[in-house]
Amino acid sequence: IIPVLTIDGPSGSGKGTISRLVAQRLGWHYLDSGALYRAVGVAAGWEGIDLDDHAALVRCTFDTRIEFREAGGELRVVVNGVDATDELRTETAGAAASAIAAIPEVRAALKDRQRVFRQPPGLVADGRDMGTVIFPDAAYKVFLTASAEERAERRYKQLMEKGVSVTLSGLLREILARDARDAQRAVAPLRPADDAVRIDTTGLGIDTVVEQVLALLPR
Ligand code: C5P
Repeated sequence: IIPVLTIDGPSGSGKGTISRLVAQRLGWHYLDSGALYRAVGVAAGWEGIDLDDHAALVRCTFDTRIEFREAGGELRVVVNGVDATDELRTETAGAAASAIAAIPEVRAALKDRQRVFRQPPGLVADGRDMGTVIFPDAAYKVFLTASAEERAERRYKQLMEKGVSVTLSGLLREILARDARDAQRAVAPLRPADDAVRIDTTGLGIDTVVEQVLALLPR
């Protein structure tokens, strides 16, 4: 049986960075499930599909080709043949992802496309429902949290480095709105799996969290 380590949590909890580093250290595969939702959101935008048009969004989910490519040590996401890595990281893509992620048929359509990432020697799966819905039988489960203020600050620094101009208060507002939507939606609301180990990363450095996660696995 191929081992899975699920790392769930809200946006800005450090999931992405931690998951990638842990996968590297273990030599396991890495699934960025949020990128799938973001990719469908971006593809829907390209096609001019309204975020209220659920039927069109479900069709778009089935039609969208999503490939992950390793290039120069970086993971690139190719959507319908176009490298959309940078566009996927925008708040617009995040908001679109969050809106379409509330549609049960979209989540169902993406299930198998996530499960195929379970390949030897193991998988680190990063998302919101990895430990609860997609890999409920995972041997190792982590739920990362951090205060909303710290998550907004981390995102602010990331965006400033990229030269994107935003305000900290605007980001905090967006993060709180997305948290509320992700926690309150009817399907797969954001919550830790009963058997997940919770780690609050507020004030912790990346290396410390990586070590805490790795410590959960047998040597
Ligand atoms: O993790 P990331 O910020 O890329 O996810 C973008 C959005 O996609 C989240 O706000 C959430 O609504 C949705 N998502 C989800 N289930 C996942 C991963 C992401 O609903 N497993």
